[in-house]
Amino acid sequence: MTTGNRTPLRPHTAPGEKRGNTTWVSCPSCKEWFHTTEDLIARGTIALHCPHCHHEFLPEKSPRLIVA
Ligand SMILES: [Zn+2]
Repeated sequence: MTTGNRTPLRPHTAPGEKRGNTTWVSCPSCKEWFHTTEDLIARGTIALHCPHCHHEFLPEKSPRLIVA
């Protein structure tokens, strides 16, 4: 299942693994990767903060999201 720019690494997630998932996002400014929580992504209205260049952007602005 692929929705938008999300790329699920594991199509079948075992029950109980919903919490603690790591979501990797690519910064639209410096293209570096950093991790956030899927919860933040799911809300969609909270700006992510890139630790590399300190750019702030909404999840939808990320060129790529990987939900691990
Ligand atoms: Zn950045």
